[in-house]
Amino acid sequence: MLRKFLSQASIRRNFAVSSSSSLAFLRQCSSSSQNPNSHFVEHLEDSTEPPPSATISIDRTALYNPSEHSHELYAESELVKHLKNIIKFRGGPITVAEYMEEVLTNPKAGYYINRDVFGADGDFITSPEVSQMFGEMIGVWAMCLWEQMGKPNKVNLVELGPGRGTLLADLLRGASKFKNFMNSLQIHMVECSPALQKLQYENLKCTTEDGADGNEEKRINSTLAETPVSWHATLEQVPTGLPTIIIAHEFFDALPLHQFQKASRGWCEKMVDVTENSSFRFVLSPQPTPATLYLMKRCKWAETEEIAKLNHIEVCPKAMDLTQEISKRIGIDGGGALIIDYGLNGIVSNSLQAIRKHKFVDILDNPGSADLSAYVDFAAIRHSAEEVSGVSVHGPMTQSQFLGSLGINFRVEALLENCTEEQAESLRTGYWRLVGEGEAPFWEGPDDQTPIGMGTRYLAMAIVNQKQGVPVPFP
Ligand code: SAH
Repeated sequence: MLRKFLSQASIRRNFAVSSSSSLAFLRQCSSSSQNPNSHFVEHLEDSTEPPPSATISIDRTALYNPSEHSHELYAESELVKHLKNIIKFRGGPITVAEYMEEVLTNPKAGYYINRDVFGADGDFITSPEVSQMFGEMIGVWAMCLWEQMGKPNKVNLVELGPGRGTLLADLLRGASKFKNFMNSLQIHMVECSPALQKLQYENLKCTTEDGADGNEEKRINSTLAETPVSWHATLEQVPTGLPTIIIAHEFFDALPLHQFQKASRGWCEKMVDVTENSSFRFVLSPQPTPATLYLMKRCKWAETEEIAKLNHIEVCPKAMDLTQEISKRIGIDGGGALIIDYGLNGIVSNSLQAIRKHKFVDILDNPGSADLSAYVDFAAIRHSAEEVSGVSVHGPMTQSQFLGSLGINFRVEALLENCTEEQAESLRTGYWRLVGEGEAPFWEGPDDQTPIGMGTRYLAMAIVNQKQGVPVPFP
């Protein structure tokens, strides 16, 4: 059945595309918490320790010089004032999770709220922006799942955190020849940023029609595929009752997390405080905080030896709760979810990082002007999903294995057959950025020359309704 997806598609944006440049598609488808006891808060001795960015290597591609710190002087922004006010009026420090949530999604001044942060001129680049092939391959995955679901007439296709909307635009263009699939789609974008919602509207080439009698809600359609599109602030707001396909690419890494540090008195939560000279600093909470419950839950899923060797642990209650929400929906309505992100299949220790203009910077430096993100704990996602009945969890597998098994090598070959030299160069570079590094499956040269990319640090995991069997391309 996968072979059916061998059809036509063209090279997208970035390239001048002639309408005749359609190509054979694939040959084979191949809680925030607070601590009012500020007086007792222990100041972190090791605040001069190198930032996590110096010890981890994360590829949102094009990042370089990871150990660089920046403490440029800046006029205090609204967000900085707001954070300081919260700490002041609360009478004590806030959790890293609360800090992260305010920094990223504060409705007035959050990092994502008012701007386009992606691409060469932004702060970081994601896979859909690297190559059209990424969205197309996710389209192949979604169509295969739809077939396994028994080709329902109506399906909710939900994307969590769609960024510029590029992934979905490429998915819709790539799948446009599959009329039954396309006709079944109701697209739902879960996006907190009004600026990005607007960009998504434009990139999906949407049009708005007034409701029939003027009182009905306006209807928005993507002219890329004549599919209805709607926007929501949370997954909870997406209507239930239809089988659902959920895509979350680089969404979980932006969810607020709590950081814990081992101290002489046991695990303490790391908090954000303000010093007497008004700069942010980390402190340790003197007593258990509400998030400790999540720490205990997470540790129950781990081997004692795994925890014994750690001095830091990150826990993301929002990721655990969202996974359960996704799983319940899929368990009841049918369908499946695909989560792709950078992360580990186990406890994550100390990965929170800030990225500005393609460089790692200090997490506390001018909050709101840099992206904050962390490794995703895929094992916690698996355990959270497995607590819900009616779903099965598959993976994680590396992005390289995932895209390779879905047939990205056939796709790149098909595109290379009919393009200019400049386009070919861009396709090859994009391909290696998506699948390169270490286990890149199609590299035939010497190991020490394996192209660097996002192939192994990014992992893919699927949660599907149990009735649908194993989703491709999971073993
Ligand atoms: N998936 C895209 C963008 C990843 S960046 C890509 O791969 O290019 C994270 C995205 O999630 C942004 O669109 C951001 O605005 C959105 N986002 C972050 N936190 C969110 C939240 N709590 N609720 C809804 N959207 C959120």
